Amino acid sequence: LISSPHLSAGSLGLADSRDPAALLAPLAGLAELRSELSLGSAGSFQFDGQRHDLPRISLGGPAAGHDLIRIGIFAGLHGDEPEGCSAAVRFACELLMAPCRLAGFELTIYPVTNPVGYQRGSRINHGGKDLNREFWRSSAQPEVRILEAELAARQFHGIISLHTDDTCEGVYGYTQGHTLNEALLKPALEAAAAFLPRDQRAVIDGFAASEGLICDCFQGVLSAPPRQTPQPFDLIFETPGRAPFDLQVDATVAALTSIIRTYPGFIAYAQDL
Ligand SMILES: [Zn+2]
Repeated sequence: LISSPHLSAGSLGLADSRDPAALLAPLAGLAELRSELSLGSAGSFQFDGQRHDLPRISLGGPAAGHDLIRIGIFAGLHGDEPEGCSAAVRFACELLMAPCRLAGFELTIYPVTNPVGYQRGSRINHGGKDLNREFWRSSAQPEVRILEAELAARQFHGIISLHTDDTCEGVYGYTQGHTLNEALLKPALEAAAAFLPRDQRAVIDGFAASEGLICDCFQGVLSAPPRQTPQPFDLIFETPGRAPFDLQVDATVAALTSIIRTYPGFIAYAQDL
């Protein structure tokens, strides 16, 4: 597969290099000023004589009329898909500009889950693995171990994974056959359509699809611990890698915004699953 171009987007405050620190620079200056934001590391590993961190952005809003909703957003598991990484950081920046939208939420964003792949522009990690086939299979890959520990400790109510597909014709998502996922993805794809069309093909990435929704999924993808009950909503959102970088970021931020806005209406439903 051809890796997507990583374009400069200085006007958006996005990184123009494959340096995770540069990607996070727009948030780094805010962390000391804003009580809603904390920046840290989910964990690190040594490779090639260097320490590599999986950065973690935590955002917490004021109380709302419901229990705290914990959402995990994961980007860059494939290192050659920097659009999701930039979108995750920009989504955090936008929420900080309108913190009322964070009410009742605790968002944990992992913008660079494959740090060596991000720096190299490679899909695989430093160990040569496709990390999105390694989850809950006793993987030895440090990125997977770090993320599995986060997923187990935080017991998210919702998990959103951001990806880029350089063979598709528009935005689409995986519902994994769950009704709640479908109910959240449909409006998210509609919101994203303000920037990029939906992939309308009947087969996407080898799976049967309808209106940009795929029910099936690969095995070993990033997901909640198998024994977590109730299982969270669990969405994979894909943008077309051949589209302009900025439009992919815009479409992803629009989808994330939609999911966060829509989900509180489904809490009662989710608890019944
Ligand atoms: Zn991917």
